[in-house]
Amino acid sequence: MRLTPMERPKMDSLISVKDLSIGFHLRDLMLPAVEGLSFDVAAGETLGIVGESGSGKSLSARAILGLVPSGGKVTGGSITYQRAEKSEVEITKLPKNGKEIRSLRGADIAMVFQEPMASLSPVHTIGSQIITTLRQHTCLSKKAALDRAIELLNQVGMSSPAEIAEQYAHQISGGMRQRAMIAMALSCDPRLLICDEPTTALDATTEAQIVELLAKLQGDLNMGMIFISHNIGLVSEIADRVMVMYLGQEVETGPAKDVLRMPGHPYTRALLNALPAFTEPGQALATLQGAVPDPTSRPSGCAFHPRCPEFAGSQCKNKRPSLHQLAERHRAKCHLHD
Ligand code: SF4
Repeated sequence: MRLTPMERPKMDSLISVKDLSIGFHLRDLMLPAVEGLSFDVAAGETLGIVGESGSGKSLSARAILGLVPSGGKVTGGSITYQRAEKSEVEITKLPKNGKEIRSLRGADIAMVFQEPMASLSPVHTIGSQIITTLRQHTCLSKKAALDRAIELLNQVGMSSPAEIAEQYAHQISGGMRQRAMIAMALSCDPRLLICDEPTTALDATTEAQIVELLAKLQGDLNMGMIFISHNIGLVSEIADRVMVMYLGQEVETGPAKDVLRMPGHPYTRALLNALPAFTEPGQALATLQGAVPDPTSRPSGCAFHPRCPEFAGSQCKNKRPSLHQLAERHRAKCHLHD
């Protein structure tokens, strides 16, 4: 069954992205980096976004904070944020560094970045960086902000929070730096937390601890969360719903358990087949050949067709597939469902 109109969410959305397109200027051309993307996230819900580098997942998340890099531009669609008092803000229409978007960033909507060393200041203590964020968005005194910073460091599992508050980023481990970033992101009680590959630089044990911490905090604080990763196994551990992206487009979205058990798109199946958990003992891990193409040389028809293990002939090569509804809240964009 064709999806017209797009499936609507069941719960009140905190953030509602509709038909979002983002492009980058290259000489006289506008190259599409994200095309026609639609998704919603509700309070208390985690949406996982998965895809290889170049799929547009981080760019789409940054657009929610009005942080599309220079040279890039939202070329279509909308991003609507529902404030606590139920008024709506159309983020794509706000001036890039205006007062309103700055009041949302770090307060209502916060982000945990991939590499804390690049995000934390090397010349300010962990505590002073959290205090600065707190004092930008609240009326707390310096003393109250310090107390709150220590409380936040405790909340993210730091065993000596007062001591950590006085240390610099280079004095603590990678896992602790990421916990400090999470504490900073939580400092103003965000309603939506965006985690962009938050465990990429960590070893497997620390990665598991950070994922567990984020899941606990999301539940305790009833936040909406967007968790971005190239690792579909990791995303499915934490997400309620999973959206798989390829070359700037959604190719599949559904409840995490449905996407895992009955993936509806060959790209999702290829990502899952590359996981050790989906491989029989003694069998070699499956690999997906090739790489995500450059946006300047987008393949015709289905953008995945040159790499697709289930390529189904000329229609894949010549015609863009539409989104098909596979089950309630589960959809995929592939000609195999025509
Ligand atoms: Fe593969 Fe064709 Fe489906 Fe694209 S439309 S994912 S090429 S089967």
